[in-house]
Amino acid sequence: MTATLTAATCPTCRARFADVDLFDAHRQRGACHDPAAAGLIRIDGIWTEWLLLIGADA
Ligand SMILES: [Zn+2]
Repeated sequence: MTATLTAATCPTCRARFADVDLFDAHRQRGACHDPAAAGLIRIDGIWTEWLLLIGADA
């Protein structure tokens, strides 16, 4: 698997995200929230979203 996305790891909850925007999605009001609650999905331990997978990200 060759992932070329710019991954971001949260220093607080150690969650890994495929994109900085996704990292921001789980940070609200200065605290970590469940990425799944923000509509994200986890693949191979990295949180991502369907839009990125199908390449339809605007
Ligand atoms: Zn976090």
